[in-house]
Amino acid sequence: MTGDMTTERRCDFCHTEDDNLGELYVHGKYAAHYKCMLYSSGLYQVDESEQDDTFDDFGGGFATGLVIKEIKRGKRLVIIILKPFLYMCITI
Ligand SMILES: [Zn+2]
Repeated sequence: MTGDMTTERRCDFCHTEDDNLGELYVHGKYAAHYKCMLYSSGLYQVDESEQDDTFDDFGGGFATGLVIKEIKRGKRLVIIILKPFLYMCITI
């Protein structure tokens, strides 16, 4: 393995680099796990068929504007992994 600078990014929701939380999407200075966005109360996925030319995909079908708004809200999403495929999410 050679040095890879991109692995330094941490998710802006859970502040970890936990691979169990899905792919880490990086958009500009923001980064978010797929599952952190999926379980964030203020976020929803936009179906590909509903995305128009102006839709800015943060990753995984989440609108960039909404993701950044949610990150800026300063909520810290904690995802507790109870078992594989069984998660509990709380915001603190
Ligand atoms: Zn995360």
